Amino acid sequence: MCPSNIVSTLALLYASQLVTLAGPKRPRVGKELSELGIIRDGGISIRDGKIDIVGKSHEIEKKADDAEVVDLGGRVALPGFVDAHTHLVFAGNRLEDFERRARGETYEQIAKASGGIGSTVEKTRAASEAELVAAAKKHADWFLQCGTTTVEAKSGYGLTLEDELKILRVMRRLNDETQLEIVPTFLGAHAVPREMSPEGYVDLVINEMLPRAAKEKLAEFCDVFCEHGYFDIEQSRKILTAAKKLGLKLRGHVDQLSNSGGAKLMAELGAATADHLEKTDKQGIAALKAANVQPVLLPGSVYALGSTSYPRAREMIEAGLAVVLATDFNPGSSPTPSMPMVLSLACTQMKMSPAEAITAATINAAHSLNRGDKIGSLESGKMANVTVFDCEDYRELAYWFGIPQTHAIYVRGKQIK
Ligand SMILES: [Zn+2]
Repeated sequence: MCPSNIVSTLALLYASQLVTLAGPKRPRVGKELSELGIIRDGGISIRDGKIDIVGKSHEIEKKADDAEVVDLGGRVALPGFVDAHTHLVFAGNRLEDFERRARGETYEQIAKASGGIGSTVEKTRAASEAELVAAAKKHADWFLQCGTTTVEAKSGYGLTLEDELKILRVMRRLNDETQLEIVPTFLGAHAVPREMSPEGYVDLVINEMLPRAAKEKLAEFCDVFCEHGYFDIEQSRKILTAAKKLGLKLRGHVDQLSNSGGAKLMAELGAATADHLEKTDKQGIAALKAANVQPVLLPGSVYALGSTSYPRAREMIEAGLAVVLATDFNPGSSPTPSMPMVLSLACTQMKMSPAEAITAATINAAHSLNRGDKIGSLESGKMANVTVFDCEDYRELAYWFGIPQTHAIYVRGKQIK
């Protein structure tokens, strides 16, 4: 990096609301989800890419008199969004599926006619690493434009040893070559490839893919699509247990289409998160609570599939779960990188308050990625990932929808938009 690009001290001042999310150093639950730590007329100073002082603008101006001052003009400033569930790297799109769904065709009809997930696997296998990097850079830019500065990203459109490793290497390159921070997850068990038996594929995942991904340090987490027709409870337990032995932390796609006991499995294995949970019942929620597993709710996929079966966010909050919101960005069921859109869906469809939704999309998401001490809030010592929105009240982020409100984005103290 060119040294002249590094501003040693920068002060972002005069936000109408500086939404700090300051609070206990753990995931937020219950009433804490509504406590945003807002400083009116707030500002921060930044030194060496990290947040130095947080407070009232006039106080910071006095303390940081050598700083380059940026006037935020009475706008809202927040920590960059943390998107804890995305499928960032893939080739092509699923426009055929999209149009067939609009015509009212069923999931089975669509999978048969235009290929469903299998069609994305074919295109991703055929793409070179360079082609995937180019496509994923476009996706990474979309996330940044929407105010997201960290994403978890899953493999899972390769389904061979080499193609899964290829996708994970693309993520590593994106981490080096873009401003978006990528947290890599191995999702070899996304679907059984057409050319293999389920048993044979589970063995391949456990005996070859997982050891390579772990040895080359290409993934921090392991995920499984635990669902009828994909990987059942027993297969999912086998894969996740093997991953845990290799030092990977666990996430899981569970209870999306049926209440199959996936949430309970994630609790049994001590996973970091259980994701989707559209069909999870009271017992599943209680199991997640007992094991401190964070639920990751993905309303964008419910919306884009034209369903109304949203996860029961209010019950989960009342049960004391540290709820996370994410986009589930993927070409088939949730083609959106927009966290503001997800905030809108959380409030209108799942009856979360705007404050709860913002906590779920920042500090709680950061904790679910094992980064609660580095990102997700505007507190001294954390990375200076800041988004500025062209509005005066944080609730406007969830209220106006379909309008980009991003005004400026800072990643590690450097302005990138
Ligand atoms: Zn997903």
